[in-house]
Amino acid sequence: MSKWLDMLRHQYNYLLADRFDWWEFNRCPINACPLVCSIAEPREQPEYYGQKRSLVSLKAERDWYKDIHADVLQDMVKRVDLALTRFIKGDSNGKRSGKPRFKNKNRYRTFAYQRVKPDCIQGNRIELPKLGKIKLIQHRPIPDGFTLKRALVTQKADGWYVSLTLEDVSVPDSPVIDKKPTEANSIGVDAGLEYFVACSDGTMVKPPKFYRQAEEKLSKLQAKREARKKGSTARRKLNERIAKLHQQIARQRQQWHFELAGELVDKAEVVFVEDLKVSNLAKRNKPKQDNEGKFLPNGQSAKSGLNKSFADAGIAGFLNEILPYKAARAGRLVIKVNPAGTSQHCAICLNRVPKELSDRWHDCSCGVSMPRDLNSGILIKKVGLGVRLTIKRESGKSRRRSLHLPDREV
Ligand SMILES: [Zn+2]
Repeated sequence: MSKWLDMLRHQYNYLLADRFDWWEFNRCPINACPLVCSIAEPREQPEYYGQKRSLVSLKAERDWYKDIHADVLQDMVKRVDLALTRFIKGDSNGKRSGKPRFKNKNRYRTFAYQRVKPDCIQGNRIELPKLGKIKLIQHRPIPDGFTLKRALVTQKADGWYVSLTLEDVSVPDSPVIDKKPTEANSIGVDAGLEYFVACSDGTMVKPPKFYRQAEEKLSKLQAKREARKKGSTARRKLNERIAKLHQQIARQRQQWHFELAGELVDKAEVVFVEDLKVSNLAKRNKPKQDNEGKFLPNGQSAKSGLNKSFADAGIAGFLNEILPYKAARAGRLVIKVNPAGTSQHCAICLNRVPKELSDRWHDCSCGVSMPRDLNSGILIKKVGLGVRLTIKRESGKSRRRSLHLPDREV
């Protein structure tokens, strides 16, 4: 299977390069003809079917490619096509991805069978075409009435995994959830660092610091690895241990997220969350220079610590993917609201109570006193239910800029 991945990756990169080359040689700026421009008739643009046909000659020239199942090879061609389509045209929502990358060993870990036999799992073995019968630990039984469709084989830090796609034609598509949010059936959820979530009903959940805990272990291992010679067996083994530790952290976090999402969805029919833009979170602060061109502190080092915690807490993934997924399964609704002002206003009297990032408590002249995140949670619910906040944009922005703080509140 490792050999297959290697061969598939080489061919993937080759076909991708072929696509790029065509663009490179058949394009020219409007006002100048570059030296690399094609002078002959442009050759036919490589596309999916053409590249698929090229597999025949590939197998003739390099007969070791015959070892790979034809289905798996074709799926690799499809991946090239998909990567290019997402780059040029975008996906079904018109959202474009970045330029496809050439893949190294660490970035090419999966191959796929488009079809597998419905009875390919027999006892504790799975039969994959050309690979034969392979021992398997089955995570859960295949439910009645479903037939097996695709099989994806992935190499992970601790072994090989196969994911199966199932189909049951009698199961309807996910129904459209139509719920009217009211005061009684909804909650507002503020996500942050101090409290991972703070809900309008008063629930506050601290984030588990899996990563920070594991970090010490990780840095010890990394220091050990640096002491070993490159290419040595000891170093390779340490690399494996580090990869496994990363995997463990990711799994712990994911499980915790799913459990928490389940708890939130149980609370109310409609969950209001802030509309979080991921790209803003991870952005680096702009360099700052004084009049003589000397670089001034721009707050990046403080923010790097913040970014790390963000990566740790995985807030965006939780709000944008896991929570909506859990809600849809339970027939509940997640609605995103504009977070502007939700940390700067009082949840009870709606007056503006300016705060710095470091102010963790909300005190208002109307007598309200509670944790800042709880205040935001309640406000997010109110905004979701239609309350409008008066936001003085300019003053807020310039104040934050002068403090070199990120534009987003946490
Ligand atoms: Zn107030």
